[in-house]
Amino acid sequence: MTSQDAAERAQKLRDLIAYHAWRYYVLDAPEISDDAYDALVRELEQIEREHPELVTPDSPTQRVGAPPSEQFAPVRHAQRMYSLDNAMDEAELVAWLERVGRELGTGTRFVCELKIDGSSIALTYRDGVLVRAATRGDGAVGEDVTANIRTIKTVPLRLIGPGAGATVEVRGEVFMPKTSFERLNEAQEAAGAAVFANPRNAAAGSVRQKDPAVTASRDLDTFLYQVVEPERFGLASQHEALEWLRASGFKVNPDVRVCSSADEVLAFCREALSRRHDLPYEIDGVVVKVDSFAQQAELGFTAKAPRWAIAYKFPPEERTTKLLDIRVSVGRTGALTPYAVFEPVRVAGSTIARATLHNADEIARKGLLIGDTIVVRKAGDVIPEVVGPLVELRDGSERPFVMPDSCPSCGAKVWKPEDEAVWRCVNAACPAQRVERLIHWASRQAMDIEGMGEELIRRLVDEGLLRDVSDFYRLDEEQLSRVATGRVKKDGTPVLVGPVVARKLAAAIEASKHRPLARLLFGLGIRHVGATVASVLADAFGSLEAIGSAGLEELASVEGVGPVIAASVRAFFENPDNRDLVARLAAAGVATREERSEPAGNRPLDGLTFVLTGALLSMTREQASEALRSLGAKVTDSVSKKTSFVVVGENPGSKRDKALALGVPVIGEEDLVRILDSGELPA
Ligand code: AMP
Ligand code: ZN
Repeated sequence: MTSQDAAERAQKLRDLIAYHAWRYYVLDAPEISDDAYDALVRELEQIEREHPELVTPDSPTQRVGAPPSEQFAPVRHAQRMYSLDNAMDEAELVAWLERVGRELGTGTRFVCELKIDGSSIALTYRDGVLVRAATRGDGAVGEDVTANIRTIKTVPLRLIGPGAGATVEVRGEVFMPKTSFERLNEAQEAAGAAVFANPRNAAAGSVRQKDPAVTASRDLDTFLYQVVEPERFGLASQHEALEWLRASGFKVNPDVRVCSSADEVLAFCREALSRRHDLPYEIDGVVVKVDSFAQQAELGFTAKAPRWAIAYKFPPEERTTKLLDIRVSVGRTGALTPYAVFEPVRVAGSTIARATLHNADEIARKGLLIGDTIVVRKAGDVIPEVVGPLVELRDGSERPFVMPDSCPSCGAKVWKPEDEAVWRCVNAACPAQRVERLIHWASRQAMDIEGMGEELIRRLVDEGLLRDVSDFYRLDEEQLSRVATGRVKKDGTPVLVGPVVARKLAAAIEASKHRPLARLLFGLGIRHVGATVASVLADAFGSLEAIGSAGLEELASVEGVGPVIAASVRAFFENPDNRDLVARLAAAGVATREERSEPAGNRPLDGLTFVLTGALLSMTREQASEALRSLGAKVTDSVSKKTSFVVVGENPGSKRDKALALGVPVIGEEDLVRILDSGELPA
């Protein structure tokens, strides 16, 4: 074949393959068999191997090609990527529809679309060829994830139909279908890797993978719903834009309806809600948009969202089940926490069987009886919660819960101060508290003794090897290797920890001797001293000894430490048992003062204060806090005028509003990542 022939043949193959890929992936309506399709691809690959100069970036062979990248380049969006205002229930939605109706006149047409629970994406095509894909980021600046997005089969590499040859930006959602999500988590689990909380996190995480080959394996999908500068293509309304996207080769969600009354919009929302579980992907609501672009322009934008659109959010998912029992657990501070034990039910994608009831007042307030049929839900789709009983379904066999008057673990009498809601076991030697304190000490957020899990700690306590946290440092490999794991062999003999694991455990214990002071302080489990307060105290005093000998006023004068915390810290260090414990830890070689080895030059965030709100996708809040602190920043829990930045993740709390009210700069996760990577602050 001459290279002229090869070029022509390659171009024909590329067009044909792109066409059949579109039929198969986007339209789900293939015209040729998989074998025939594969044969076309193989032929093209063959030609491209022999004539590498013929490979074009839009070739179907080039979806996975880019090498793993270390960092995603920032992309400034030519037009801001807005988020949406929410309507939390039908009443709020109706109020919005009426407001818009008043401004634009009755008979205004709306387009209803499903709110896909994924991650937003902006795709740029130059002369009809995909040249860039970017995440939303903070709306102004996103990240360049082109190499990853190219691997998604429903993203056209070259536009067809009305979009052919166009230079255009389009926007939409990348998501992971439910079945792919389940498969991914099974694989992650089997590989001992972290599982994703929900398909949205899985999609966002997969888009921000360093290695495009991994993204390619993740089975992501897309729905596009926006054309930027639609007037350039003669588009006058949202429904025309959707048609244009579809005809240009994009995957567009088919569940779209143009409505011209509030009743029609509500009907669409109710149908969407009832069909939610039948859809192969997650949706978390309905987006209602004013159809006409001219009318959209009339309404304009607020600082954060268009006025011409609203996201109607579905209510949290609820199920009914039977309340089998109310039991009480003893926490590390002796607090008795009642929890509901109910028949397992699937809610929002996972099975739940227990939910905390917080305290006795809460049970009374909810009017729960053991034996009740109850409504349970996942608050914010994460934490199981008992909503309340269905009183009509009682048959008289139900019985009230009584808080035990003695500790279920040690039998000591329980006690509750008049003005508090929580009953406590105040026996310092209570085994349940002891175990919880040990678990807390070894946990990731505290001293992080890898491999030292709950089960092993219980065993070590049972065998008399662990009483308080200083005992961790007296365990030797020999002792550890002989501890039973709780499992038994086929012949009935118990499985022991064994020398290999024991060696790792001993090394992990040794490593935990040199954690930052804040973790040590947090690990001690002093009441009211959470991770944030611990690091504030560590920064202010520099050593456990200094904190232990600080007076009430000295403690309370530290920013972020009030009189209640100060009193609790004092009480802890005045207790002779605790003082002994601290002495034993120090004697065992646990570092009790900040090992400040970082030269000043490596603390670029010195003097800055950060507050975190909402969930981050690429790391936990603890990890973020620690990383910020290691660069010299302070991380506190509440926003004040002195706060330098508020980092806003998914589902942020009121801290964001407070920051906006005080004029404190609000930044997104991408900004945070950039700060951590380069120390560079957003403008
Ligand atoms: P929120 O993040 O709750 O403010 O909701 C806004 C986000 O919803 C947008 O940034 C999109 O990523 C997402 N979204 C999902 N489906 C749609 C849709 N059909 N139209 C507009 N936005 C959508
Ligand atoms: Zn007890």
